[in-house]
Amino acid sequence: MKPDVFNPVRTSTLDPIYVLQPGCDIINMIREIADSGVQEEAFYVLDVGDIVRKHKEWKLKLPRVTPFYAVKCNDNSTVLQVLASLGANFDCASKAEISKVTGLGVSTDRIIFANPAKQMSHIRYAAASGVRTMTYDNDTELYKIKQVHPDARMVLRIRCDAKKAQCQLGVKFGALPKDAPALIRLAHELGIDLVGISFHVGSGCQEPEVFQRAISTAKDLFEYAATLGFQMNLLDLGGGYSGNRGSSVDDVAKIVNAAIDEFFPETSGVQIIAEPGRYYVASAFTLATRIHGRREVTTEDNPLPSYMYYINDGVYGSFNCLLYDHAVCNSQLMNPKEGPLYKCSIWGPTCDGLDCVAQSVDYPLLEVGDWLVWEDMGAYTMAAAGTFNGFDVAKVFPVAFEHTWRYLKELHPLMEGGFVSDAAVFEMIRNTYKEEEKYASASHPCGLITHS
Ligand code: PLP
Repeated sequence: MKPDVFNPVRTSTLDPIYVLQPGCDIINMIREIADSGVQEEAFYVLDVGDIVRKHKEWKLKLPRVTPFYAVKCNDNSTVLQVLASLGANFDCASKAEISKVTGLGVSTDRIIFANPAKQMSHIRYAAASGVRTMTYDNDTELYKIKQVHPDARMVLRIRCDAKKAQCQLGVKFGALPKDAPALIRLAHELGIDLVGISFHVGSGCQEPEVFQRAISTAKDLFEYAATLGFQMNLLDLGGGYSGNRGSSVDDVAKIVNAAIDEFFPETSGVQIIAEPGRYYVASAFTLATRIHGRREVTTEDNPLPSYMYYINDGVYGSFNCLLYDHAVCNSQLMNPKEGPLYKCSIWGPTCDGLDCVAQSVDYPLLEVGDWLVWEDMGAYTMAAAGTFNGFDVAKVFPVAFEHTWRYLKELHPLMEGGFVSDAAVFEMIRNTYKEEEKYASASHPCGLITHS
């Protein structure tokens, strides 16, 4: 008998989405929450409409590529609920991520378990919950699969690195193309179903041409696998698409579309998927942090003061992206100020000297209680944040304009056998309005509007 742990827990608690009044924008919403007096801790505003726009843009610009959102990038439940409702699929890396996604009613054929080195218990969990498609890049993985998940549909991950990327992933995963034929042969010997090839060119890829090289290499491996009798039908383009404000997927789309049309035309019958992470969420999240301390620093060489400011989120929280994601984070004042500029550094709330968020920036003199706003904070931030020294991970306030809310509300359930429907997701939103009416008061003109 299988232990209970193999039964994914379904979470029926759905998060509220706050509907904005016409004319209100994200910064207004941030001001309103910050000025409400009830939110002194750091917080995020999640612009749900931004995710909807990204999804539409993806479908328009990469029409042959089905997105499987990389949950690791940001597993916020509103993000997952909205993407599930929009019909996106999911790339999960662990049993907890699988459980979170299936808990929304997403059917398991909409999940790829794209971690090439999986723990046995996680493979067993995938088998028990019906997730069949998964990646590998080494022989030991195939032996494990043979033992505990012989029905798996395996995707061989190969290495093909962009010349420049924010985070190179090839250092950890991906079989070298020269080693791939042996791994294909092993799948054949073990009687494992090999269905495709995947790669990840590097997160924050800055060399779009790499996709052409990777797709062409994948084509060679499809041909090799065919000589052994494999009819592979899945090409997985991985992640690597930028998502910050002002960035564009156009250059990558141009190269990807040309390469798939050349090497995997529609007549090939090969399904093309990708695992975008930061593309979907980077620009959707704006973080607001509050200054709770200031120290003036003068030195004998420089009599002009500089200032150290202490804010309520740091590298052990959202700003872990400075270390792990090699991110560059820029702030602005929630309420701009006039006055001479001073050099300053910005520090997180913990007692650790490593907890520095900005080494040297220029600001007018700031006060305790001033708020700093950080855009493009959705990717690899809160997902990897901890609570070191007892500081909570910043709370998320999801917001949407009424037209976005109505658009989502009108979507039909998109997953086979699933239960995430517009009704399920948005009934909760209605209920939350009632709980959160404090934000809808006349003194907060940009806040919630109530729908009955
Ligand atoms: N797929 C896999 C297997 C990954 O490891 C990652 C990121 O680490 C992603 C997709 C998402 O990549 P990105 O955020 O660059 O789109």
